[in-house]
Amino acid sequence: MAETEPETQKPQETRKRGDWSLTDFEIGKPLGRGKFGRVYVAREVKSQYVVALKVLFKKQIKKYNIHHQLKREMEIQTSLRHPNILRLYGWFHDDERIVLILEYAHGGELYGLLRDCTYFTEKRAATYILSLAQALAYCHEKDVIHRDIKPENLLLDHEGRLKIADFGWSVQSKNKRRTMCGTLDYLAPELVENKAHDYAVDNWTLGILCYEFLFGVPPFEAESQKDTFQRIVKVDLSFPATPQVSSEARDLITKLLVKDISKRLSLQKIMEHPWIVKNADPTGICNN
Ligand code: AMP
Repeated sequence: MAETEPETQKPQETRKRGDWSLTDFEIGKPLGRGKFGRVYVAREVKSQYVVALKVLFKKQIKKYNIHHQLKREMEIQTSLRHPNILRLYGWFHDDERIVLILEYAHGGELYGLLRDCTYFTEKRAATYILSLAQALAYCHEKDVIHRDIKPENLLLDHEGRLKIADFGWSVQSKNKRRTMCGTLDYLAPELVENKAHDYAVDNWTLGILCYEFLFGVPPFEAESQKDTFQRIVKVDLSFPATPQVSSEARDLITKLLVKDISKRLSLQKIMEHPWIVKNADPTGICNN
């Protein structure tokens, strides 16, 4: 299937939201399966633009009572425009399905790449962390906290640029929140302890991801959820002897995995950190 077409032909510009139906698309191979439906690569017939269609079954949405979460995810994602955030161009529904028209991430899941190479080079890790910090700074400016950044929710486009996908757990609010959500390994202490939390939860997650990118496992991994919980709350952080990771990288991780929210490194400070400045490719594209 052809690569994505120029900006002018993107599907959101050829139709008004709600005017779509499945007959507007040639459906290609399945890309993956999520909890609530399947994702296919597809081509919009008129513009020939390649997209990903996420097909969700209304029965499942009703059964798990996720209607509000989905609506919130769709509203937030359509409003965001950033090179490192997966675009949601529009959606439509029929009697059985809700179909989301998404930007196609040709490179698939970052998680797959990490599993294939066990851990990333410092240059690759720093490039992804910079891309994430820039995308999150944009989200935070718009009062959006993602709260569920993890490798499975990060996709790569055909150039290898990181894209944050899946806004299912994000919230748009100026106020402090109090709902437990997300996957334990990536959660900040204030979230696992069910305390009020704010934007700083995403900064903590960048520390977790930075560690996982460089060492291949998240820092507080344990046999049981209870043990992971204990390790997060105590910030039981240690660095393995192998692979060898620079002291600058360890410095950034140590400054992000800080229990006291007021002392946790800000997104701006992450972007200016010597390890990022030295290693990250500002184009967000990495080939090594
Ligand atoms: P999800 O239901 O969002 O968890 O998606 C299931 C799987 O489909 C993901 O893990 C990805 O491998 C794949 N996928 C989802 N969205 C896209 C996309 N926009 N482009 C390419 N692959 C995708």
